[in-house]
Amino acid sequence: MLKINEIFLSIQGEGLYMGRPTVFVRLTGCNLRCRWCDTEYAFEEGEDMTKENVLTRIENYGIKEVCITGGEPMLQDEVIGLMFRLIDRGYHIVLETNGSIGLEDVPAEENVSIAMDIKCPSSGMADRMLFSNIELLGPGDFLKFVIVDEEDYEYAMDILDTYQPECEAVFTPVGGADLKWLAEKIIEDGARDIRVLPQLHKIIWGIERSR
Ligand code: SF4
Repeated sequence: MLKINEIFLSIQGEGLYMGRPTVFVRLTGCNLRCRWCDTEYAFEEGEDMTKENVLTRIENYGIKEVCITGGEPMLQDEVIGLMFRLIDRGYHIVLETNGSIGLEDVPAEENVSIAMDIKCPSSGMADRMLFSNIELLGPGDFLKFVIVDEEDYEYAMDILDTYQPECEAVFTPVGGADLKWLAEKIIEDGARDIRVLPQLHKIIWGIERSR
């Protein structure tokens, strides 16, 4: 059984796969409490569903792009089994995870992309990160940094310098839309390997929308 908060169709609003029509599967529960969290409703609410029921709901949309998110989806062991079944059926999966739980069991398949957060100081959760996950990430995966202020920015740059990830790095301003200062900062620093991206869904539907 999986505890599912919601399953819905939207546009991928974040990261490398931004803009793709995507079926979102949001799992209930999170082990972190980020100060700027916009999905607190997923901490407790949800219904128990079998993997087969989740697959049926996904298949009904007729779209081969799935984002598994939360909450923190890696808190539920059965999410791995769900991913293998999606792979068998030809889906591309983006797994959004908060960076605090080991990712060794995530299928190392070409059509699985890991979007891992690195929580910066403004989140209040920076000390909860499992940095050993970074070496598991490669092309097609990305690290996501939500940046609030100068301190977050410097912290994110230090992490990239220290770990030299093989995956991509995405910097997104908190709230998802006020990109100018962050873009100018990156240009000023000549930090060419970093993508500055908005949260597209907030531009389309407004700041209150979490997807
Ligand atoms: S990890 Fe994500 S869901 Fe959990 S508290 Fe932080 S922002 Fe919210």
